[in-house]
Amino acid sequence: MSMSNLLDELNLKQLEAVVTTKQPLRIIAGAGSGKTKVITTKIAYLIQEEHIAPWKILAVTFTNKAAREMKERVELLTGNLQSKPFISTFHAWCSRILREEFNLVGLQKGFLIIDQNDQKQMIKKIVRELDLFDEPLIRDLNKQAVNQISNWKNNFVSPKEVMDESYSLLEKNLAAVYRIYEQKLLENNSVDFNDLQIKVHQLFNQNPETVNKWRDRYDYVMVDEFQDTNDVQFDLIKFLTRGKTNLTVVGDPDQTIYSWRGARVNIILNFEKTYKDAKSVVLNENYRSTQQILDIANDFINNNQNREKKDIFTNNSSGNKVQVKECASMYTEAKFIASEIKNLVKEGYKYGDVYVLYRMNAWSREIEKVLDNSKIPFQLIGGIKFRDRKVIKDAISMLKMVVVKDNLSAERVLNFTPKIGNITIQRIFELSRDKAMNIFDLITHENESLINLATKNLKDLRLTLIEGRRIYEKNISIAGLIKYLLAASGYEKRLEILEDEDALQNIKALYDQLSHFDESFDPLEYNEEDRFIAFLQEESLASEEDDETHPNKVTLLTIHSAKGLENKVVFVAGLNRDVFPGKRSMFSTEELEEERRALYVALTRAQEKLYISYIRGEWSYISQGELSPSKFITELNKELYEFESGLFAHANGTITSTKVVKTEKDLWSEKFDEQHENDYASGDLVEHVIFGEGIVIKIIGTQLQVAFNNPMYGVMVIPIGNKALSK
Ligand code: ATP
Ligand code: MG
Repeated sequence: MSMSNLLDELNLKQLEAVVTTKQPLRIIAGAGSGKTKVITTKIAYLIQEEHIAPWKILAVTFTNKAAREMKERVELLTGNLQSKPFISTFHAWCSRILREEFNLVGLQKGFLIIDQNDQKQMIKKIVRELDLFDEPLIRDLNKQAVNQISNWKNNFVSPKEVMDESYSLLEKNLAAVYRIYEQKLLENNSVDFNDLQIKVHQLFNQNPETVNKWRDRYDYVMVDEFQDTNDVQFDLIKFLTRGKTNLTVVGDPDQTIYSWRGARVNIILNFEKTYKDAKSVVLNENYRSTQQILDIANDFINNNQNREKKDIFTNNSSGNKVQVKECASMYTEAKFIASEIKNLVKEGYKYGDVYVLYRMNAWSREIEKVLDNSKIPFQLIGGIKFRDRKVIKDAISMLKMVVVKDNLSAERVLNFTPKIGNITIQRIFELSRDKAMNIFDLITHENESLINLATKNLKDLRLTLIEGRRIYEKNISIAGLIKYLLAASGYEKRLEILEDEDALQNIKALYDQLSHFDESFDPLEYNEEDRFIAFLQEESLASEEDDETHPNKVTLLTIHSAKGLENKVVFVAGLNRDVFPGKRSMFSTEELEEERRALYVALTRAQEKLYISYIRGEWSYISQGELSPSKFITELNKELYEFESGLFAHANGTITSTKVVKTEKDLWSEKFDEQHENDYASGDLVEHVIFGEGIVIKIIGTQLQVAFNNPMYGVMVIPIGNKALSK
C-alpha cells in the first residue's frame, strides 16, 4: 500500500501520533481506538518515509498471539521486506538478547529455558535432598520455596544477601535451596522464565558498553499494552532509550489485568516524569465495535471508582442489542453457544469469526464437549484441551488404574506419587514381571511385604487403591470414586499446597463432568457394572477424533489471552458468582476492580455481536454450591441488553422473580434424597476409616458432603453407601 493511502486511513490524532518521531510519545486511549493500528502504521511509516532499516525497529507486546497478529498487520502494510522489524513479547526479546550475550551472564551457547513445571520439580528435589527441614514441614515448604525464590529473584536479592541479612533459620534454609537452585540452573546451562528479563536487566546494569550496543541497535522502540508493564520491563525500555527520543508507548489503564504479576498502571500514568519532553495523544474514536457494544462496555467500566473517565464515541452502526442469556446448567450454556453459532453460520458468518471467552481455564470443559458433539470446529488458544491437561490425565489415570488395572496408567500414577523416583518405578516393574502380576495387584496384594520388596513408600497409595477398588466394586458413582482417589492419595492436597488454582479448578470441573455423567448414565442402556467402562470408552473415543484440521475454527480462549484481539462475534461465558469475579476478589477493592477491567477487556473484543451468559441453579464443585449470577450481571445497564432466560419464559424479557427453577439434577437429587433420607441427614456425625470423624453438611444426589475434623481433608464428598463411612 502506498504511504499516502496508508496515512489517509487515519484520523487526525492517529496521524499526529504516527508522524511524531522526534519526541517520546505516549498514547492513552480506550479499547478499539486504534492504538495498535498506530503502532503498525508507524512501523511502515518509519521504514518508508524515514528510511529506517526494518531490523532497527523494535515493537514489544504482551502475548505471542498479539505479536503474531502485529507481524501480519505490518506485512500487509509493507509487503515483503528484505529484513524484518523485531516484533515480539518482552520475554522473547530478552531471550533474543541472551542468545547473543550469553557469555556476559555466565551462560553457554544453546542454553535451555525451563518452564514452570520443571522449576517446581527442581526446587522440590532440592528441598528433599538438602534434608534441612522437618518432614511434616516439607510439603508446605515446596510451595513457599518456589514463591519465595521467584520473589527474591524478581527483586534482585541474591542467595548470599539472604544468608547475610536474615535472622530466621527458616529463611536461611530457604536461601540454601535458592543457592543450590541457581547453581543447578547454571550447571545445566539453563534459565527459568524469570531469568530471561532479570538476566538482561543485570547485563544492562553491569555492562555500559552492552547497553550502548543495544541502544544503537534500535532506531525506534514501541511498546503496546504498556498499561501492563512492570518495573523490570520499564527499566529495560529506559536502558534502550536513555538520552534518546525514539520511543512510543500505547496503553489503556482500564485494561490493566496483570497487577498480580507486578504490572503497575502508574508507569503509564507518570510517563512524563521519566520522559520530560514527552508528548501525549488521546484517541477517542472507537472503530471496532457497534454503538450498542461500546455503550454497554463503557457504562460497565464506570463502576470502577479508581479510574479516569474517558470520552469515547463511535461512528459505527448501532448494531444489535447485546444479549444476556440465563441458563439452567453448564450443559445448556454450552448448547446455547453451539446452537447460536450454527445460526450465525447460516446467516453467513464463518466459524473463524467467533471467540468464546471465559475467565478461568476450567470453564472450557463443557463448551469443548458440546462443540465436539455438534461438529463445530474449534481451537484453544494459549491453552490445552481439557482432556489433555496434566491434572485431568493424572486423575483419569488413577481411575483407570483402579478400574482397568493397566500398567500404563499405573506408571503415570507412580510418576506423580511423592517419594517414588525412576529407580523405584523400574524396580516395581521388574517385580511385577517376576511375580507375573499387574502393578495394581502387586501394590494392593493382601500381603503388604510383597510391594515392600520394591519400596516402603507406597503405604498411602496402597490404602487408597484398596479402598478405591472397593468403592468401584460397590459401583457407587464415578465422581465419588475419583474424588476419593484424589483426596485419599493426597493429590488434591498437593495442588492446594502449591496454590495451583488453575489445576484445582480443572479438577473441580472434572468432578462436575463426572457427576453429570453419573446422572445421565442410563442403566438400561448398559449393564450397571459397565458404568465405568462406558465412561472410559467415551473418553478414549473423544480423544481419537481430535486431529482433523479445519482452516476455519471457532476460537476458545481465556480473557487474559484475548488482550488486544478482536472478532466479529464474541461470547462471554460463565458470568457466575465465585467464578467471575473469583472468590478472592470479595475481600479487596483492588482485586474486584481488576476483575472488572478483565470483563471490560472481554466485552470490548466484540465488533458486531456480543453474548453474555451465566448459569443459575445448577450445583457445581467449582462454586461449591449452586451457581448464581455474578455481581457483574447486576452492574450491566439493563437498558443496554436483551435478556433471555432458559429457565422459564418472561413476558417482558426481564428478571421478575428470583425463584430458582429446579433443574433435572435437583429433581433427581430429591428423588434420591427421599430414598436415602433414613440413612443420613445433614448434621449427622460420621466416621471414615481414613479421614476420621466429620459431620454431614449436605446430601447431594448420591453423595454426602462431609466436613472432616482433620483440616488435612476439609470438606469432602463421599458416596452414600461407601463402606468406609459409618454413623
Ligand atoms: P485494544 O485496546 O483492544 O488493544 P486498540 O486501541 O489497539 O484496541 P486497534 O486494534 O488498533 O485498537 O483497532 C481496532 C480496530 O479499528 C481495528 O480493526 C482497526 O483496523 C480499526 N481502526 C483503527 N483505526 C481506524 C481508522 N482510522 N479507520 C478505520 N479503521 C480503524
Ligand atoms: Mg491494541
